[in-house]
Amino acid sequence: MSPTRASTSNGTSLSAINVADPHLATFLTGASLPAFRKRLLAWYAAHARDLPWRRTRDPYDVWISEIMLQQTTVTAVIPYYLRFLAAFPTVVALASVEEHDVLKLWEGLGYYSRGRNLHRAARVIVDEYGGEFPVTVAGLAALPGIGRYTAGAIASFSRDVRAPIVEANTLRLYARLLGFAGNPRSTAGQRLLWDFAERLLPSRDCGRFNQALMELGATVCTPVDPDCQSCPLCRDCLAFRDGTQHQIPVPKPRPAVTQVVEAAIAVRKHDRYLLRQRGPTERWAGLWDFPRFELSSGDHAVQDSSPLRRSLAQRLAELTGSSAEIGELLTEIHHSVTRYRIRLLCFEATHRRGSIRSRGAECRWLRPDELESLALSVSGRRLAQLLAARDLSGT
Ligand code: SF4
Repeated sequence: MSPTRASTSNGTSLSAINVADPHLATFLTGASLPAFRKRLLAWYAAHARDLPWRRTRDPYDVWISEIMLQQTTVTAVIPYYLRFLAAFPTVVALASVEEHDVLKLWEGLGYYSRGRNLHRAARVIVDEYGGEFPVTVAGLAALPGIGRYTAGAIASFSRDVRAPIVEANTLRLYARLLGFAGNPRSTAGQRLLWDFAERLLPSRDCGRFNQALMELGATVCTPVDPDCQSCPLCRDCLAFRDGTQHQIPVPKPRPAVTQVVEAAIAVRKHDRYLLRQRGPTERWAGLWDFPRFELSSGDHAVQDSSPLRRSLAQRLAELTGSSAEIGELLTEIHHSVTRYRIRLLCFEATHRRGSIRSRGAECRWLRPDELESLALSVSGRRLAQLLAARDLSGT
Protein backbone atom coordinates (compact mmCIF):
# COMPACT_ATOMS: atom_id res chain seq x y z
CA MET A 1 0.00 0.00 0.00
CA SER A 2 1.30 3.41 -0.87
CA PRO A 3 1.70 5.70 2.14
CA THR A 4 -0.52 8.38 0.71
CA ARG A 5 -3.31 5.88 0.11
CA ALA A 6 -3.26 4.38 3.58
CA SER A 7 -6.85 3.95 4.68
CA THR A 8 -8.76 2.25 7.46
CA SER A 9 -10.65 -0.98 7.11
CA ASN A 10 -13.93 0.94 7.27
CA GLY A 11 -12.80 3.37 4.60
CA THR A 12 -11.85 6.25 6.89
CA SER A 13 -8.79 7.98 5.52
CA LEU A 14 -5.75 8.12 7.73
CA SER A 15 -4.69 11.32 6.03
CA ALA A 16 -5.98 13.16 9.12
CA ILE A 17 -2.57 12.30 10.44
CA ASN A 18 0.54 12.86 8.49
CA VAL A 19 0.88 9.59 6.57
CA ALA A 20 3.27 11.34 4.22
CA ASP A 21 5.70 11.10 7.12
CA PRO A 22 7.96 8.27 5.95
CA HIS A 23 8.37 6.89 9.46
CA LEU A 24 4.63 6.69 10.05
CA ALA A 25 3.92 5.42 6.58
CA THR A 26 6.31 2.52 7.13
CA PHE A 27 4.71 1.86 10.46
CA LEU A 28 1.12 1.95 9.22
CA THR A 29 1.82 -0.25 6.26
CA GLY A 30 3.23 -2.84 8.58
CA ALA A 31 6.96 -2.94 7.83
CA SER A 32 8.04 -2.14 11.38
CA LEU A 33 5.13 -3.70 13.24
CA PRO A 34 6.72 -7.08 14.06
CA ALA A 35 9.64 -5.41 15.84
CA PHE A 36 7.23 -3.01 17.60
CA ARG A 37 5.16 -5.94 18.91
CA LYS A 38 8.24 -7.79 20.05
CA ARG A 39 9.58 -4.82 22.00
CA LEU A 40 6.20 -4.22 23.61
CA LEU A 41 5.71 -7.85 24.67
CA ALA A 42 9.27 -8.13 26.00
CA TRP A 43 8.72 -5.00 28.08
CA TYR A 44 5.40 -6.39 29.38
CA ALA A 45 7.00 -9.69 30.36
CA ALA A 46 9.50 -7.78 32.47
CA HIS A 47 7.29 -5.02 33.90
CA ALA A 48 3.65 -6.13 34.13
CA ARG A 49 2.13 -5.52 37.55
CA ASP A 50 0.83 -8.59 39.31
CA LEU A 51 -2.87 -7.75 39.51
CA PRO A 52 -5.52 -10.22 40.70
CA TRP A 53 -7.46 -10.14 37.43
CA ARG A 54 -4.31 -10.98 35.49
CA ARG A 55 -4.13 -14.38 37.18
CA THR A 56 -7.24 -15.58 35.39
CA ARG A 57 -8.65 -15.87 31.89
CA ASP A 58 -12.15 -16.60 33.02
CA PRO A 59 -14.47 -14.22 31.11
CA TYR A 60 -16.57 -13.68 34.23
CA ASP A 61 -13.57 -12.53 36.29
CA VAL A 62 -12.30 -10.36 33.43
CA TRP A 63 -15.74 -8.80 33.06
CA ILE A 64 -16.06 -7.95 36.77
CA SER A 65 -12.60 -6.36 36.83
CA GLU A 66 -13.17 -4.35 33.67
CA ILE A 67 -16.48 -2.94 34.88
CA MET A 68 -15.00 -2.04 38.27
CA LEU A 69 -11.98 -0.38 36.67
CA GLN A 70 -14.16 2.07 34.72
CA GLN A 71 -13.61 5.51 36.29
CA THR A 72 -11.85 3.88 39.26
CA THR A 73 -8.20 3.32 40.18
CA VAL A 74 -6.56 -0.10 40.40
CA THR A 75 -5.81 0.41 44.09
CA ALA A 76 -9.44 1.20 44.91
CA VAL A 77 -10.74 -1.72 42.85
CA ILE A 78 -8.59 -4.58 44.23
CA PRO A 79 -10.45 -5.08 47.58
CA TYR A 80 -13.85 -4.71 45.90
CA TYR A 81 -12.90 -7.19 43.19
CA LEU A 82 -11.72 -9.79 45.70
CA ARG A 83 -14.81 -9.39 47.92
CA PHE A 84 -17.15 -9.50 44.94
CA LEU A 85 -15.69 -12.73 43.54
CA ALA A 86 -15.68 -14.32 46.99
CA ALA A 87 -19.40 -13.51 47.36
CA PHE A 88 -20.45 -14.23 43.75
CA PRO A 89 -17.86 -16.60 42.26
CA THR A 90 -19.78 -17.33 39.04
CA VAL A 91 -22.21 -15.62 36.73
CA VAL A 92 -24.91 -18.05 37.94
CA ALA A 93 -24.26 -17.00 41.53
CA LEU A 94 -24.48 -13.33 40.57
CA ALA A 95 -27.72 -13.84 38.64
CA SER A 96 -29.32 -15.65 41.56
CA VAL A 97 -29.05 -12.80 44.10
CA GLU A 98 -31.11 -9.63 44.37
CA GLU A 99 -29.91 -6.32 42.97
CA HIS A 100 -29.61 -4.92 46.49
CA ASP A 101 -27.05 -7.64 47.38
CA VAL A 102 -24.90 -6.45 44.49
CA LEU A 103 -25.25 -2.79 45.47
CA LYS A 104 -24.27 -3.64 49.04
CA LEU A 105 -20.93 -5.02 47.80
CA TRP A 106 -20.60 -2.03 45.49
CA GLU A 107 -21.10 0.46 48.32
CA GLY A 108 -18.42 3.17 48.17
CA LEU A 109 -17.20 2.28 44.66
CA GLY A 110 -19.50 4.85 43.03
CA TYR A 111 -21.15 4.88 39.61
CA TYR A 112 -23.74 2.43 40.87
CA SER A 113 -25.33 1.89 37.47
CA ARG A 114 -22.29 -0.33 36.80
CA GLY A 115 -23.38 -2.70 39.58
CA ARG A 116 -27.01 -2.67 38.46
CA ASN A 117 -25.99 -3.41 34.86
CA LEU A 118 -23.68 -6.24 35.98
CA HIS A 119 -26.61 -7.85 37.70
CA ARG A 120 -28.94 -7.36 34.72
CA ALA A 121 -26.33 -8.73 32.31
CA ALA A 122 -25.71 -11.77 34.55
CA ARG A 123 -29.41 -12.62 34.34
CA VAL A 124 -29.35 -12.27 30.55
CA ILE A 125 -26.29 -14.55 30.32
CA VAL A 126 -28.01 -17.17 32.47
CA ASP A 127 -31.46 -16.89 30.88
CA GLU A 128 -30.47 -16.51 27.24
CA TYR A 129 -27.02 -18.08 26.99
CA GLY A 130 -27.34 -20.91 29.53
CA GLY A 131 -24.72 -19.29 31.78
CA GLU A 132 -22.02 -19.18 29.08
CA PHE A 133 -20.54 -15.86 27.97
CA PRO A 134 -21.20 -14.88 24.33
CA VAL A 135 -18.07 -15.58 22.30
CA THR A 136 -18.23 -12.65 19.89
CA VAL A 137 -17.52 -8.97 20.50
CA ALA A 138 -20.96 -8.11 19.09
CA GLY A 139 -22.66 -10.63 21.41
CA LEU A 140 -20.83 -9.21 24.42
CA ALA A 141 -21.53 -5.61 23.41
CA ALA A 142 -25.26 -6.36 23.31
CA LEU A 143 -25.27 -7.04 27.08
CA PRO A 144 -26.27 -4.27 29.52
CA GLY A 145 -23.36 -2.05 30.53
CA ILE A 146 -20.86 -3.52 28.04
CA GLY A 147 -19.54 -1.12 25.42
CA ARG A 148 -17.14 -1.65 22.55
CA TYR A 149 -13.99 -1.40 24.68
CA THR A 150 -15.22 -3.77 27.42
CA ALA A 151 -16.45 -6.29 24.87
CA GLY A 152 -13.04 -6.24 23.16
CA ALA A 153 -11.24 -6.57 26.48
CA ILE A 154 -13.33 -9.57 27.61
CA ALA A 155 -13.05 -11.29 24.22
CA SER A 156 -9.31 -10.74 23.81
CA PHE A 157 -8.19 -11.23 27.44
CA SER A 158 -10.18 -14.40 27.97
CA ARG A 159 -10.21 -15.97 24.50
CA ASP A 160 -7.56 -14.18 22.45
CA VAL A 161 -10.17 -12.92 20.00
CA ARG A 162 -8.46 -10.46 17.65
CA ALA A 163 -10.41 -7.48 19.03
CA PRO A 164 -8.93 -3.98 19.23
CA ILE A 165 -9.28 -1.86 22.36
CA VAL A 166 -9.30 1.87 23.01
CA GLU A 167 -9.76 3.13 26.57
CA ALA A 168 -8.23 6.05 28.46
CA ASN A 169 -4.68 4.67 28.64
CA THR A 170 -4.49 3.35 25.09
CA LEU A 171 -6.20 6.44 23.69
CA ARG A 172 -3.34 8.53 25.06
CA LEU A 173 -0.68 6.04 23.94
CA TYR A 174 -2.02 5.73 20.38
CA ALA A 175 -2.48 9.50 20.00
CA ARG A 176 1.16 10.03 21.00
CA LEU A 177 2.51 7.20 18.85
CA LEU A 178 0.69 8.73 15.89
CA GLY A 179 1.57 12.31 16.81
CA PHE A 180 -2.14 12.98 16.47
CA ALA A 181 -2.75 16.60 17.45
CA GLY A 182 -6.51 16.52 16.75
CA ASN A 183 -9.25 15.65 19.22
CA PRO A 184 -9.00 11.90 19.93
CA ARG A 185 -12.54 11.85 21.39
CA SER A 186 -14.20 13.29 18.28
CA THR A 187 -15.92 10.92 15.86
CA ALA A 188 -13.04 11.23 13.39
CA GLY A 189 -10.46 10.84 16.16
CA GLN A 190 -12.19 7.73 17.49
CA ARG A 191 -12.35 6.17 14.04
CA LEU A 192 -8.67 6.83 13.57
CA LEU A 193 -7.62 5.35 16.93
CA TRP A 194 -9.83 2.26 16.65
CA ASP A 195 -8.44 1.63 13.21
CA PHE A 196 -4.89 2.10 14.48
CA ALA A 197 -5.59 -0.30 17.38
CA GLU A 198 -6.76 -2.91 14.89
CA ARG A 199 -3.69 -2.50 12.71
CA LEU A 200 -1.40 -2.98 15.71
CA LEU A 201 -2.88 -6.35 16.71
CA PRO A 202 -0.87 -9.49 16.01
CA SER A 203 -2.58 -12.54 14.56
CA ARG A 204 -2.46 -14.39 17.91
CA ASP A 205 -1.95 -13.81 21.63
CA CYS A 206 -4.09 -10.67 21.27
CA GLY A 207 -5.17 -10.64 24.92
CA ARG A 208 -1.62 -10.33 26.16
CA PHE A 209 -0.82 -7.78 23.50
CA ASN A 210 -3.80 -5.59 24.43
CA GLN A 211 -2.93 -5.84 28.11
CA ALA A 212 0.64 -4.81 27.33
CA LEU A 213 -0.60 -1.69 25.49
CA MET A 214 -2.83 -0.76 28.41
CA GLU A 215 -0.08 -1.37 30.95
CA LEU A 216 2.38 0.78 29.04
CA GLY A 217 -0.21 3.56 28.83
CA ALA A 218 -0.99 3.27 32.54
CA THR A 219 2.56 3.11 33.89
CA VAL A 220 4.96 4.70 31.34
CA CYS A 221 2.98 6.79 28.85
CA THR A 222 1.23 8.55 31.70
CA PRO A 223 -0.94 11.67 31.34
CA VAL A 224 1.61 13.95 33.00
CA ASP A 225 5.33 13.43 32.51
CA PRO A 226 5.47 10.30 30.33
CA ASP A 227 8.69 8.38 30.96
CA CYS A 228 9.84 8.35 27.34
CA GLN A 229 13.42 7.45 28.26
CA SER A 230 12.24 4.06 29.58
CA CYS A 231 9.62 3.48 26.92
CA PRO A 232 10.16 0.46 24.69
CA LEU A 233 8.26 2.21 21.88
CA CYS A 234 10.13 5.53 21.86
CA ARG A 235 11.75 4.80 18.49
CA ASP A 236 8.26 4.37 16.97
CA CYS A 237 6.69 7.38 18.65
CA LEU A 238 6.10 10.52 16.62
CA ALA A 239 5.20 12.63 19.65
CA PHE A 240 8.55 11.73 21.24
CA ARG A 241 10.41 12.41 18.02
CA ASP A 242 8.73 15.81 17.67
CA GLY A 243 8.84 16.66 21.39
CA THR A 244 5.04 16.99 21.52
CA GLN A 245 4.31 14.27 24.09
CA HIS A 246 3.25 16.89 26.64
CA GLN A 247 0.74 18.48 24.26
CA ILE A 248 -0.81 15.21 23.02
CA PRO A 249 -3.57 14.21 23.48
CA VAL A 250 -5.43 17.51 23.61
CA PRO A 251 -7.08 17.66 27.02
CA LYS A 252 -10.73 16.85 27.51
CA PRO A 253 -12.73 20.00 28.29
CA ARG A 254 -13.44 19.97 31.99
CA PRO A 255 -17.15 20.05 32.80
CA ALA A 256 -18.14 23.12 34.78
CA VAL A 257 -18.39 22.32 38.47
CA THR A 258 -21.83 22.91 39.96
CA GLN A 259 -22.20 23.69 43.65
CA VAL A 260 -25.26 22.10 45.23
CA VAL A 261 -26.65 22.28 48.76
CA GLU A 262 -28.85 19.46 50.03
CA ALA A 263 -30.48 18.56 53.33
CA ALA A 264 -30.69 15.03 54.76
CA ILE A 265 -33.16 14.43 57.58
CA ALA A 266 -32.50 11.82 60.28
CA VAL A 267 -36.09 11.33 61.47
CA ARG A 268 -36.20 9.44 64.74
CA LYS A 269 -39.04 7.37 66.17
CA HIS A 270 -38.04 5.74 69.47
CA ASP A 271 -34.79 3.88 68.67
CA ARG A 272 -35.30 3.83 64.90
CA TYR A 273 -34.60 6.13 61.96
CA LEU A 274 -36.54 6.61 58.76
CA LEU A 275 -34.81 5.32 55.63
CA ARG A 276 -36.09 5.18 52.06
CA GLN A 277 -34.87 3.23 49.09
CA ARG A 278 -34.08 5.56 46.21
CA GLY A 279 -36.36 5.17 43.21
CA PRO A 280 -35.33 3.93 39.76
CA THR A 281 -35.06 7.42 38.25
CA GLU A 282 -33.17 8.95 41.14
CA ARG A 283 -29.43 9.33 41.64
CA TRP A 284 -28.13 6.18 43.43
CA ALA A 285 -31.21 4.19 42.36
CA GLY A 286 -31.71 1.14 44.57
CA LEU A 287 -29.54 2.44 47.44
CA TRP A 288 -31.03 3.32 50.82
CA ASP A 289 -30.78 6.84 52.14
CA PHE A 290 -32.09 9.28 54.69
CA PRO A 291 -34.81 11.48 53.17
CA ARG A 292 -32.83 14.03 51.20
CA PHE A 293 -33.81 17.27 49.48
CA GLU A 294 -32.04 19.74 47.26
CA LEU A 295 -32.16 23.25 48.69
CA SER A 296 -32.60 26.41 46.71
CA SER A 297 -30.17 29.28 47.22
CA GLY A 298 -32.87 31.03 49.27
CA ASP A 299 -33.18 27.97 51.52
CA HIS A 300 -29.55 27.46 52.33
CA ALA A 301 -28.83 31.14 52.80
CA VAL A 302 -30.93 30.73 55.94
CA GLN A 303 -29.93 27.21 56.91
CA ASP A 304 -30.73 27.64 60.59
CA SER A 305 -34.06 29.33 60.15
CA SER A 306 -37.59 28.35 61.12
CA PRO A 307 -38.89 28.81 57.55
CA LEU A 308 -36.34 26.32 56.29
CA ARG A 309 -37.36 23.81 58.97
CA ARG A 310 -41.03 24.24 58.13
CA SER A 311 -40.31 23.80 54.43
CA LEU A 312 -38.28 20.64 55.10
CA ALA A 313 -41.02 19.23 57.35
CA GLN A 314 -43.56 19.78 54.58
CA ARG A 315 -41.36 18.16 51.91
CA LEU A 316 -40.66 15.24 54.26
CA ALA A 317 -44.39 14.67 54.81
CA GLU A 318 -45.06 14.77 51.06
CA LEU A 319 -42.24 12.34 50.33
CA THR A 320 -42.68 9.81 53.13
CA GLY A 321 -45.94 10.48 54.99
CA SER A 322 -44.02 11.17 58.21
CA SER A 323 -44.92 14.36 60.02
CA ALA A 324 -41.88 15.42 62.02
CA GLU A 325 -40.37 18.32 63.88
CA ILE A 326 -37.04 19.29 62.33
CA GLY A 327 -34.43 19.84 65.02
CA GLU A 328 -30.76 20.80 65.19
CA LEU A 329 -28.21 20.75 62.43
CA LEU A 330 -26.17 17.62 63.28
CA THR A 331 -23.32 18.00 60.84
CA GLU A 332 -22.30 19.09 57.36
CA ILE A 333 -20.87 16.60 54.90
CA HIS A 334 -19.03 17.71 51.77
CA HIS A 335 -18.82 15.26 48.88
CA SER A 336 -18.72 15.10 45.09
CA VAL A 337 -20.86 13.25 42.57
CA THR A 338 -19.50 13.58 39.01
CA ARG A 339 -19.39 17.36 38.38
CA TYR A 340 -21.49 18.25 41.43
CA ARG A 341 -19.85 19.48 44.64
CA ILE A 342 -22.43 18.80 47.30
CA ARG A 343 -22.68 20.41 50.71
CA LEU A 344 -25.05 18.21 52.69
CA LEU A 345 -26.71 19.71 55.76
CA CYS A 346 -27.78 16.88 58.07
CA PHE A 347 -30.66 17.67 60.42
CA GLU A 348 -32.10 15.56 63.18
CA ALA A 349 -35.88 15.35 63.45
CA THR A 350 -38.47 13.76 65.71
CA HIS A 351 -41.39 11.85 64.23
CA ARG A 352 -44.75 13.18 65.43
CA ARG A 353 -47.43 11.28 63.56
CA GLY A 354 -48.33 9.73 60.21
CA SER A 355 -47.75 6.33 58.68
CA ILE A 356 -44.91 6.08 56.23
CA ARG A 357 -45.89 5.36 52.67
CA SER A 358 -43.93 4.27 49.66
CA ARG A 359 -44.78 6.71 46.83
CA GLY A 360 -42.65 4.60 44.43
CA ALA A 361 -39.82 4.10 46.93
CA GLU A 362 -39.95 1.81 49.97
CA CYS A 363 -39.58 3.43 53.42
CA ARG A 364 -38.64 1.65 56.67
CA TRP A 365 -37.98 2.44 60.32
CA LEU A 366 -34.63 0.91 61.18
CA ARG A 367 -32.26 0.76 64.16
CA PRO A 368 -28.71 2.06 63.49
CA ASP A 369 -27.30 -1.50 63.72
CA GLU A 370 -29.77 -2.65 61.05
CA LEU A 371 -28.35 -0.09 58.61
CA GLU A 372 -25.16 -2.16 58.45
CA SER A 373 -26.79 -4.66 56.09
CA LEU A 374 -28.18 -2.02 53.72
CA ALA A 375 -26.43 -0.48 50.73
CA LEU A 376 -26.12 3.23 51.54
CA SER A 377 -24.56 6.12 49.67
CA VAL A 378 -21.18 7.19 51.07
CA SER A 379 -22.67 10.33 52.63
CA GLY A 380 -25.64 8.31 53.94
CA ARG A 381 -23.19 5.87 55.54
CA ARG A 382 -21.31 8.72 57.23
CA LEU A 383 -24.52 10.05 58.71
CA ALA A 384 -25.55 6.54 59.82
CA GLN A 385 -22.17 6.09 61.57
CA LEU A 386 -22.54 9.42 63.31
CA LEU A 387 -26.02 8.46 64.57
CA ALA A 388 -24.83 5.02 65.72
CA ALA A 389 -21.91 6.56 67.62
CA ARG A 390 -24.20 9.16 69.17
CA ASP A 391 -26.73 6.53 70.23
CA LEU A 392 -23.98 4.38 71.74
CA SER A 393 -22.59 7.26 73.75
CA GLY A 394 -26.14 8.18 74.85
CA THR A 395 -25.89 11.80 73.69
FE1 SF4 B 1 4.45 7.66 25.31
FE2 SF4 B 1 6.87 8.73 25.40
FE3 SF4 B 1 6.56 6.15 24.81
FE4 SF4 B 1 5.80 8.02 23.10
S1 SF4 B 1 7.89 7.59 23.80
S2 SF4 B 1 4.67 6.18 23.66
S3 SF4 B 1 5.08 9.61 24.47
S4 SF4 B 1 6.08 7.15 26.79
